[in-house]
Amino acid sequence: MEHRKVIIIGSGPAGLTAALYTGRANLAPLVFEGNQPGGQLTITTEVENFPGFPEGITGPQLMDEMRKQAQRFGAESKFEHVTAVDLSQRPFKVMVGEAVYTADSVIVSTGASAKLLGLESEKEFMGYGVSACATCDGFFFRNQEVAVVGGGDTAMEEALYLTKFASKVTIIHRRGELRASKIMGERAEKNGKVEFKWFSTVEDIKGTEENGIKKLTHLVLKNTETGELEDFKTDGLFMGIGHRPNTDLFVGMLDMDENGYLIPKDRSTYTNIEGVFACGDVQDHVYRQAISAAGSGCMAAIDAERWLAAQGIE
Ligand code: NDP
Repeated sequence: MEHRKVIIIGSGPAGLTAALYTGRANLAPLVFEGNQPGGQLTITTEVENFPGFPEGITGPQLMDEMRKQAQRFGAESKFEHVTAVDLSQRPFKVMVGEAVYTADSVIVSTGASAKLLGLESEKEFMGYGVSACATCDGFFFRNQEVAVVGGGDTAMEEALYLTKFASKVTIIHRRGELRASKIMGERAEKNGKVEFKWFSTVEDIKGTEENGIKKLTHLVLKNTETGELEDFKTDGLFMGIGHRPNTDLFVGMLDMDENGYLIPKDRSTYTNIEGVFACGDVQDHVYRQAISAAGSGCMAAIDAERWLAAQGIE
């Protein structure tokens, strides 16, 4: 059984920043990178809003750089997916199948995942017209027509943000009534660039491929009342059907809100279990930015380092 002072579960900007800081504190952290090493940023193409990269950087490249920087200070990555944890006593146990690791402290940075429609074509066009993040990718749709699927606050927020760039934003919703809060719904309805396509679901995503580069051209929509199919021309499709925090591992152990997001103790990264810290999107459904996740990863590392020192573990 391998023992570590710090085990970090999750490898997005929060986890890798926590790895960098705990590495520099000589704590030799072990990072479980999970099923999507690098996290959500690896499904976006260009990242233009991470400070320090005036020319922009691709999501996968940014995450590679963060990983290298953490490794330079002694962090170790395992490209494995944690299957269970036991936080009931210290040292904590982190399981990967049959393998058991123990840790004096655990930093949870398992992130959140945008809900997807479940279409084969949406994976194919992800980053090439399909996006799950308007603040990441909206800029690339200047003067183009885009669509947002969903009828909740996320969809309204994405749509309104996209009006800064796109010439037209169509919200595609499967019912005739929004789930969004009244104020957000009204804001979208009043915006001259926003149109609604009611009673519609996205059945398929179509496009072209030239020199290996895919380009979305249209969607196949289905009218949920008549079953009729239609081609709908658009340059982009944004998923606005919500996010899901990756907290299944911690149910019954860590405090969560009604949507499954972890609840850290006031203005810190402490959870309800001493020695377990949370950072990044797994505890933040409001900001959800790479830079804010990285910032909270730094906070978790400092909280963990100080807590370990108080236990006499340095
Ligand atoms: P919600 O669950 O509120 O809304 C999801 C929307 O997507 C619903 O309209 C739902 O349709 C639709 N949907 C879900 N699955 C599918 C599917 N497979 N195909 C088509 N449509 C689908 O999620 P949100 O992320 O919008 O909001 C989550 C929480 O976060 C809410 O409490 C919200 O208020 C909050 N939030 C607040 C914001 C703010 O205040 N600025 C911004 C973003 C979120 P249907 O309505 O038919 O179920």
